[in-house]
Amino acid sequence: MLDSVRIVLVNTSDCRNIGSAARAMKTMGLSQLILVDPIEMPNGQAQALAAGATDVLAGAKVVSTLEEAVSDCGLVIGTSARSRTLPWPMLDPRESGEKLIKEVSDYPVALVFGRESSGLTNEELQLCHFHVQIPANPEYSSLNLAMAVQTLSYEVRMAFLAEQQGEQQNKIAEKDSKQDEQIYPLVDETERMFEHFEQALKATGFIVPSHPGLVMTKLRRFINRARPDSKEVKMWRGMLSSVEKAAKRQNS
Ligand code: SAH
Repeated sequence: MLDSVRIVLVNTSDCRNIGSAARAMKTMGLSQLILVDPIEMPNGQAQALAAGATDVLAGAKVVSTLEEAVSDCGLVIGTSARSRTLPWPMLDPRESGEKLIKEVSDYPVALVFGRESSGLTNEELQLCHFHVQIPANPEYSSLNLAMAVQTLSYEVRMAFLAEQQGEQQNKIAEKDSKQDEQIYPLVDETERMFEHFEQALKATGFIVPSHPGLVMTKLRRFINRARPDSKEVKMWRGMLSSVEKAAKRQNS
């Protein structure tokens, strides 16, 4: 279960933080570390801080974009030390641990951490289904990167232990209700849907390529809030294809 919980570190500048994050992960039973375009690749200093978790560090996968890191995930939770201009569905650390453990049996899930200096970009945050903020001291709320990894990994572990220790009754009830639950699409499917939306809305003239405005951002927020399941995403793709066809007929 914990093997499918990914910790993604975006554009980390100090590789010692990567080493400390690996240690934080291993203490909580997590092992999947993904580094998105790290500025400094893990070196001896990172290994020293990883201590007994050099295996997690050595197994870290390096990719160049956040989309690559999470394209096969069905749930992505992004971290943020401060509130952003574009409000997004928020979870507290406990809820985020519970959600990750609840969904991890269906697909890989990810917790995404930002740059030491500037966190995650708006574009990166918009790739996430939810945002989580550690409710730290409002006057000084920015934790060290590895300590944020420790805090949120601890919540994942607590949710995992609760799930494991859960009474048999609860498990049976959960299994029953799971049969009715939706299967959510992977990030990759959702991203293809957004590309299709953009293409169709350009074909109808709703999006003017020279002045795209905030249409796609607002649409992303709306669709993300609704959290469509896989069948609904397929239905949207079908509707968009019919819109494109109609636009083509009208334009020809
Ligand atoms: N100055 C940055 C903070 C970067 S701290 C900003 O304003 O966004 C580095 C990373 O640690 C963050 O991107 C986030 O992943 C994590 N982090 C630090 N404090 C956090 C908090 N209070 N809640 C959630 N994540 C936090």
